[in-house]
Amino acid sequence: MDLLYTAEEQAFRAELREWLGDVLPTLGSEPDREDWAARRAWDLGWTATLHRAGYSGINWPKEFGGRGATPTEHLIYIEETERAHAPYIGMNFVGMLHAGPTLIAEASDEQKAFHLPGILEGRHLWCQGFSEPNAGSDLASLRTRGVRDGDDYVINGQKIWTSFGHVADYCEMLIRTDPEAPKHKGISWIIVPMDTPGIDVRPLRTMEGSTEFCEVFFDDVRVPVANRVGAENDGWRVAMVTLSFERGTAFVADVIKSMELVRALKEFAQHVTSKGATRWEDAALRLEIGKCAAELDALWALTKRNISQAQRTGLVGVGGNVFKVAWTDLRHHLGDVAMRVLDRASLSIEDVAGLANGEHVSGRFFALSMSIAAGTSQVNRNVIGERVLGLPKER
Ligand SMILES: Cc1cc2nc3c(=O)[nH]c(=O)nc-3n(C[C@H](O)[C@H](O)[C@H](O)COP(=O)(O)OP(=O)(O)OC[C@H]3O[C@@H](n4cnc5c(N)ncnc54)[C@H](O)[C@@H]3O)c2cc1C
Repeated sequence: MDLLYTAEEQAFRAELREWLGDVLPTLGSEPDREDWAARRAWDLGWTATLHRAGYSGINWPKEFGGRGATPTEHLIYIEETERAHAPYIGMNFVGMLHAGPTLIAEASDEQKAFHLPGILEGRHLWCQGFSEPNAGSDLASLRTRGVRDGDDYVINGQKIWTSFGHVADYCEMLIRTDPEAPKHKGISWIIVPMDTPGIDVRPLRTMEGSTEFCEVFFDDVRVPVANRVGAENDGWRVAMVTLSFERGTAFVADVIKSMELVRALKEFAQHVTSKGATRWEDAALRLEIGKCAAELDALWALTKRNISQAQRTGLVGVGGNVFKVAWTDLRHHLGDVAMRVLDRASLSIEDVAGLANGEHVSGRFFALSMSIAAGTSQVNRNVIGERVLGLPKER
């Protein structure tokens, strides 16, 4: 493990910091959370800005238009952009973090030539159509059918929890192409243009009140066979490639955000009073805030360990699963502590009486969704138990 930065890495950081210092003041203000057209334009606009400066697809190989940054440079990129409060790639995360990398690893030359520039330049937004009402953790039970008819698959079925499905151009999707085969064997991975006739996207409202994910219904949707990535019925293997990218470094930026949240919580506690004393005077609460800060430091060290391993071996491996579980548990802990500090102000997701309570309350909700998204904590614990600790497989 090497936790020190080289001179080249320090130079990369300085150059990036300078660029962020120049470009961030020129950006307007972020659009309203529920103005989807404006948010799409904002997120894709930021990707385009990154592309013009050579930072889009930071860790994608150079030959496919990325910057070819090493895992350590990638970590520096996440650290610097978060600390500078730069926009996140936002809705473009599916394309940039896992659909694009899956295409690089598995797609045909034609598919790469068409789709990769669209993602990198911020022209095309992607969503992920994996989960179904009866196939989440047990993803291989998916039932959305793709029946071969000439040069097309005719798709019928339903997906759910499709983040940003209502504003996406393309969907990385799993369909069942052989219902007779064992469940992991009869699946194919396919690119579905979201404007194809027969697709009905119905937004779902989250507990935070946002409509950021959807149910998507498919009624005789014709998609060319040429859109399949990988061989017919080999989609489970391709999906595992996608999930390995999804569980890689996707949540690292949130650690830095959470560090800021802890600092904000400390300030909050120092100013808010209850029964004549500030919340900060409560030693038990102070201890819990301190524990959250220490746990975040430990998680940052784990992140650097994972990055160091990826730099040497090319893989984050189960370190990614360990990170996800530890981070999710910590986020729950921080959310609970925040609710105790906020006291009555925790009842409103909107800031009340000039207090910055809203971000802590929405952060608490966010923690709940994070223990489900990209593999639930229980399922990730199974993976760690079986693959790291060598415990018996669940039946
Ligand atoms: C914010 C958010 C965004 C999402 N975005 C997308 C998206 O864009 N595209 C997409 O396809 N999906 C998306 N999902 C769906 C997500 O992948 C699934 O919710 C997740 O895989 C869990 O599946 P499920 O909801 O069907 O729960 P289930 O699989 O039904 O699980 C229910 C409970 O049973 C537990 N459980 C299940 N199996 C086991 C087991 N073997 N051992 C122990 N416990 C088990 C789970 O941990 C959980 O507590 C998103 C989810 C969230 C929360």
